[in-house]
This record gives sequence, structure tokens and C-alpha cells, in this order.
Amino acid sequence: MTVLVISDVHANLQALQAVLDAEAGVDAIWCLGDLVDYGPSPNECIDVVRSLDVLCIAGNHDRAATGDFDISLFNRGARLCSEWTQKVLTGDSKEFLRSLRPVRFMDNIQLVHGSPRDPIFEYMFNLAVAVPNFRLFNADMCMVGHTHVPVIFTRRDGAGGRPEHDVTVPEPGRPVTLKGLKSIVNPGGVGQPRDGDPRAAYMLLDPENLTVTLKRQSYDVAKTQELIRRARLPGQMADRLAYGL
Ligand code: ZN
Repeated sequence: MTVLVISDVHANLQALQAVLDAEAGVDAIWCLGDLVDYGPSPNECIDVVRSLDVLCIAGNHDRAATGDFDISLFNRGARLCSEWTQKVLTGDSKEFLRSLRPVRFMDNIQLVHGSPRDPIFEYMFNLAVAVPNFRLFNADMCMVGHTHVPVIFTRRDGAGGRPEHDVTVPEPGRPVTLKGLKSIVNPGGVGQPRDGDPRAAYMLLDPENLTVTLKRQSYDVAKTQELIRRARLPGQMADRLAYGL
């Protein structure tokens, strides 16, 4: 079985569609939150994932878009985007976003947007954040999004049963088998990558063997930028797509 794992689509239909076209043969699709905000096509992206029966969980921007938390905590650019998204979302789209749960379990794999400790908001930036989170989930693997940066954290039992932690930046196209380890895996961002590579990032997962493969997919960045400008969303949201930052 092959699962396409995507996250942080952020209303970027061109990136989402390019990834779906490239991986049309997968058996299932899981999305780790933040379908909307920043990008110009929130309703369209929601329609696509609904039509494909994608298993979705809630991200902080999905919650913001339905008015379910106070966006005054966002920086100015994010706030403007969220206000725009709230305005253009259809009632149907809002209802769908509201229905998303913050945590799902797929056998031995836990899915959250942020972290096991705080499924919606905590950023899993580094080992200092990952280490305490390893004690907070029982699954073999926890898949997270939110940072838009692909990474794999692992924990194994070392000498004397003492846990040893590690962090790897996966290489595109190279499968990594995590069976026998406890792992926290981030597939990167589809619609707004932030690791310096402007191509959409996502992973293919073999859930039985706990093997993940990072993939990158180029898409029509110029088209998304044009739509962002046409929607009068903050210009930086268009500019950053060219750099993947
Ligand atoms: Zn995000």
C-alpha cells in the first residue's frame, strides 16, 4: 500500500494539482492540515481534497479561517490573508474545515498538524522540541506538518535502554525505513515550501514497513503568484513562492 502524505497546501491549487497528477496511482491520501490561507484558491483546494476522499486533519490556519481562534496572534501578513480567506470561503467549505479533527490514528501512525503535545499550534522545529514529544505518543510514527520543512526525528533504545535521538533531513527520492524505531516525520509543505526549494514537498509512505520517501514536484509558480496578486493578497505571499522561503 502506498499513501501520499501532503501538508500545508495553503490554497495553492497549482501545487496541489501538480502533486496529485504526479502521484495518481496511490492507494490513499492523507493531509496534515492547513489547506487554506496565504494562497488564492481555498475553496478550489477544499473541493479537490473532498472529491478525492483525502483524510484531512485540522491545522491552525484551518481553525483561523472558520473564526475559531483569535487571529490577532498572527503577524500582519498572515492576519490579512486570514481575513481574506474568511471572506471568500463558502459556507460549505467552512463546514468542511470545522469538521476536521486535530488528531487521527491510522493503525500505528498518529497524524497531527503541530505536535503530539499541542496538535494544532506547536512547531516541531528541532530535537529540543521533538525529544519531550516522543514521550507523548504511543504510535510507532507521528506525522506532523506546520513548519513546511521536511525532516525525520527518530528515537531508538541505546545502551542500557537509554533512548538515543537523531534528526535527518531526508533526500528526495531516497526511501528511509523507520521500522523498529519511534519516529516523528514531516513531509514538508506542498503550497508554501520553506526549506529553500520552491518545488512542492510531500512524501510517499508504505505504512506496513514504515518507509517514507520525500518527493519534490515543480509546478506553475508564476500562475499562483498571478492569482495571489489578482486577489490583492499581501505581495510577500507571491514573492516567497519563488524562493521556497
Ligand atoms: Zn502552514
